[in-house]
Amino acid sequence: VARHAPEADFVPGLIHADHRERLVPHSHAYAETLRDIYGYDKMHPLTRDEIRARVGSEAYHGGVFDAGGGHLHPLNYALGLARAARDAGVRIFERSRVDWVTETDPVRIGAGKARIRARHLIWAANGYLGEMDRRIAAQVMPINNYIVATEPLGALADKLIPGREAVADSKFVINYFRLSADGRMLFGGGESYGYRFPADIAAKARRPMLEIFPELAEVKIDHAWGGTLGITRSRMPHFEWIAPNILTAGGYSGHGVAMATLGGKLAAEAIGGTAGRFDLMASVPTPRFPGGAALRWPMLVLAMIWFSLRDRL
Ligand SMILES: Cc1cc2nc3c(=O)[nH]c(=O)nc-3n(C[C@H](O)[C@H](O)[C@H](O)COP(=O)(O)OP(=O)(O)OC[C@H]3O[C@@H](n4cnc5c(N)ncnc54)[C@H](O)[C@@H]3O)c2cc1C
Repeated sequence: VARHAPEADFVPGLIHADHRERLVPHSHAYAETLRDIYGYDKMHPLTRDEIRARVGSEAYHGGVFDAGGGHLHPLNYALGLARAARDAGVRIFERSRVDWVTETDPVRIGAGKARIRARHLIWAANGYLGEMDRRIAAQVMPINNYIVATEPLGALADKLIPGREAVADSKFVINYFRLSADGRMLFGGGESYGYRFPADIAAKARRPMLEIFPELAEVKIDHAWGGTLGITRSRMPHFEWIAPNILTAGGYSGHGVAMATLGGKLAAEAIGGTAGRFDLMASVPTPRFPGGAALRWPMLVLAMIWFSLRDRL
């Protein structure tokens, strides 16, 4: 970030917030395990009073503060990486939708009227893959998620997250939020399945925001948007060789801002002939969604409804 995208406004500090008291010991034990077994000592348990000093909401009972993580402006980060790639000689063709590929050597690719021959192909479409490759689709499922940005909050911002950490909570349909550099609340919450977005995206994410911060009821929503991410059943990313010259990295399950960068690096190493780190990730099994590519939708929707109901227990 410092080298290629300083304008991404990186801010250190992440908080995991537990919405049920019974989950707090588990979070604290998780931090201890990371410290004792993996030597990661930047996670600190938070009691109820400690989390309420950091997050101005009565919704949380405890959690963990991670000083080793942080948050940033993802578009500026992507633009910074694109600039660095372009400066290194990469040619980027935006708005060039790939319609088909052949599993040959070289790979043949059709994008509109363009025909491309390539020695290697990386499927890096994550949740946007659609049915382009049914083997990947059986393991990586698209889910839509939504964000609202309020108007700048002025002094209220410092009451809600005085330390400017990013917060993600323990709900299955997760709430995650942070303050932007200009003091807006950026609040993510609400999900939907399938490639269609709800007509009123702002309402979708505003509802969970008001459950956490009721004092924002009168605050104007300046922007609302959604996107599609790729999840796996295990919530571990999915790395795989599809053919000797085709590979895929995706299924980051909502953690791709950092991990997709690593995924790209490992895929580039693999194409360059040093596949050790890519192969290590590819050795982590990705269970298929029941029903494969065709029947996964109804099964997933049922499972998601069940788990989201459990958020209320
Ligand atoms: C609302 C929302 C909030 C999120 N919040 C977080 C967060 O807080 N932290 C976090 O770590 N992650 C978060 N994520 C997930 C994160 O955005 C993704 O994990 C990450 O973007 C994955 O990067 P990627 O490069 O693999 O895929 P993407 O960024 O999805 O890029 C895939 C690209 O492939 C292109 N593509 C697809 N099909 C084709 C085709 N046929 N031809 C040509 N191009 C194609 C798409 O146009 C797209 O540009 C969030 C996602 C959403 C939607």
